[in-house]
Amino acid sequence: MSQVDVVIIGGGISGLSALHYVRRTKPELSVRLFEAESRLGGTIGTDNIDGYSFDWGPNGFLDREPLTLKLCEELGLNDDLERANENVANRFILRKGKLRSVPMKPPAFLMSDILSLKGRLRVMGEPFARSAPDDDESIYDFVQRRIGREAADYLVQPMVSGVFGGVADQLSLKSCFPIMREMEQEHGSLFKAMIAKARAAKAKGKKSGGPSGPGGWLTSFRGGLNRIVDQFHKRYESNITTGQSVTTITKENDCYRIDFQDGHTEQARTVIIAVPSNQAATLVESLSNGLAGALARIPYAPISVVCFGYAKENVGRSLDGFGFLVPSKEKRRILGSIWTSSIFDARTPEGKVQFRSMVGGDGDHASMELSDDELVRIVRDDLDGIVGLNSDPEVVKLYRWCHGIPQFKIGHSDILSEIETELEALGNIHVTGNAYYGIGLNDCVKQSHRVVSKL
Ligand SMILES: Cc1cc2nc3c(=O)[nH]c(=O)nc-3n(C[C@H](O)[C@H](O)[C@H](O)COP(=O)(O)OP(=O)(O)OC[C@H]3O[C@@H](n4cnc5c(N)ncnc54)[C@H](O)[C@@H]3O)c2cc1C
Repeated sequence: MSQVDVVIIGGGISGLSALHYVRRTKPELSVRLFEAESRLGGTIGTDNIDGYSFDWGPNGFLDREPLTLKLCEELGLNDDLERANENVANRFILRKGKLRSVPMKPPAFLMSDILSLKGRLRVMGEPFARSAPDDDESIYDFVQRRIGREAADYLVQPMVSGVFGGVADQLSLKSCFPIMREMEQEHGSLFKAMIAKARAAKAKGKKSGGPSGPGGWLTSFRGGLNRIVDQFHKRYESNITTGQSVTTITKENDCYRIDFQDGHTEQARTVIIAVPSNQAATLVESLSNGLAGALARIPYAPISVVCFGYAKENVGRSLDGFGFLVPSKEKRRILGSIWTSSIFDARTPEGKVQFRSMVGGDGDHASMELSDDELVRIVRDDLDGIVGLNSDPEVVKLYRWCHGIPQFKIGHSDILSEIETELEALGNIHVTGNAYYGIGLNDCVKQSHRVVSKL
């Protein structure tokens, strides 16, 4: 048995960034990271097949989080950063079987066919919406209250299922979009808040918004997101052990004892658990029932990423944008499709295009029962009905994530309070990852930074 100051369990972006922050900010501490799989990265990965590069899970991050940008710089990755192309500000939503462009400016919105005239006028009435209830409101209820049911069904619900893999009337607004709640509370209206934000950005000479949503530009690395994982590995190889699965953590005197599947054990003064919360729950069972119970209450939605490579001439429309989302009212199985070849350069061979479609989410757990063939057929049929396809895909790659995306349902903030209380009582044990304060890569980096600065 060896003893170190800090053990990090899990080698996804959360564990790897925690390792980086320990090494950088607490060089006096000895640290080891253990990863169960033979490779690092967790849901981050990139495959290169026949000239296509396919991201396994995430395909980028928004460049609005200074910590992530600083992390890239500290890893020496600035020259490898790749910003999404400008034309991907073009986004589509399926309505009545047709792709409709999502208008980005108020005059275009008023003229657009994305909502009925009544629906558009209701959106414009947002400043007069009734004020917020005090309790934990669902995203759907919030949106319906502020901009109406049609906008909730056709603009926000598809975004919620595309980004969170969630169901809008079950997810908590204050946990998923705390900023929206703050905007309403501070300005009494989202429109007024956006105007104030745009004015402030203008005064600072900044552009607000960009591809992939307000306040951020979709960013990856040349050749795919796995570049950052390779760089972590190269930099910190001596602190990392792969192929080592932790089974339990117990307290032994002033230290923690960490048991591994292969029978060996380690001791550490501090443990950072960077595995999904449902797996973290099993690791801490003998340490604290309360903590294990609270961690286990965070549910996950399954998600499958289905990547197709096509010759351009076999696709019935030009893929002139980011891709599209599908409202559940349209009754398709795919949640949406991202046109990777239009977003990032050099992800497909010349003359080819790449679709990256999502199936599953909290509204479709049954999708995990589908065979690969069924999944491919469903995606092919849905895409054919929407963009028109003249052939089968030239290349197919599937990635299935049974516990894909944590769901911040109503009451999530109460679970977090319980977790924090239990962790405080234990001392020197911390959790990081996307199950707590935000589901994206930026959130993982931020949470790991927060945890390490507390050590
Ligand atoms: C399909 C999909 C698309 C996404 N798209 C985006 C996107 O475009 N942008 C974005 O910002 N975010 C996106 N996300 C979210 C993002 O991928 C996650 O927030 C992030 O990768 C989570 O990282 P993590 O390190 O917390 O967890 P993980 O990546 O799950 O890593 C946890 C690691 O812990 C290891 N582990 C588990 N148990 C043990 C054990 N007992 N012992 C040792 N090791 C263990 C696992 O093997 C794994 O490597 C997406 C997620 C999915 C699934």
